[in-house]
Amino acid sequence: MGLTAAVIGVGGLGAPASLALARAGVERLILIDDDVVDRSNLHRQILFRDADVGRSKLDATVDSLRRAGLKTHLDPRPGRLTPANAAVIDGCDVILECSDNYATKFLAADVARLRGLPIVHGSAIRFIGTAFAVSGAGGPCYRCLFEDIPPGAQAGCDVAGVVGPICGVIGALQAHLALTAAYGTLISLDGLRDELRVRSIPARAGCALCGSSPTIDAIDAARYHPVEAEEN
Ligand SMILES: [Zn+2]
Repeated sequence: MGLTAAVIGVGGLGAPASLALARAGVERLILIDDDVVDRSNLHRQILFRDADVGRSKLDATVDSLRRAGLKTHLDPRPGRLTPANAAVIDGCDVILECSDNYATKFLAADVARLRGLPIVHGSAIRFIGTAFAVSGAGGPCYRCLFEDIPPGAQAGCDVAGVVGPICGVIGALQAHLALTAAYGTLISLDGLRDELRVRSIPARAGCALCGSSPTIDAIDAARYHPVEAEEN
């Protein structure tokens, strides 16, 4: 279909999202990650198997997708998305933000907005997951929902835990939103109540990123504190 997608983080969300995109026939996947496979990842990071423990997640992801016989061109880019290397996503048509910390989530949101690229954010912790699609043309954006990185340390899923199927559903929904371009749509899954809610999020007039007088007009490294975080 001629589409290039950049997947930031190939863990609990990025693995199912990458698989869904490749199976949907996306032409090229730019895969960005700096982590290695841990045994505790295996219940939710569906591209990895026992033999991958200790390997680079990127290498294991590429091998797994190739074993599946998919024709998608795979473009692994080792490392973490940082303010200095945002060009790592160059050449993509859509970004899937599947990271596990707020610093990367806000950086990805700002990079996408400033480059005019659509982005689909994903998040999963315990029994709760969300997917949110943002247009490259403007809001509503991630900062309309969450103004800034929350203060203090956030419990990541390595501490708080996450139910594996929640990651699978949310990653697949991110791929779906990326392919359908359903911008402004927030899908949230409550795995304890078995509730899936779909909402249209309004743009926030005073948003620093997409509002009428945005104050974020460049990537300033000081804005992205490496607060270890949330999920995945
Ligand atoms: Zn906004």
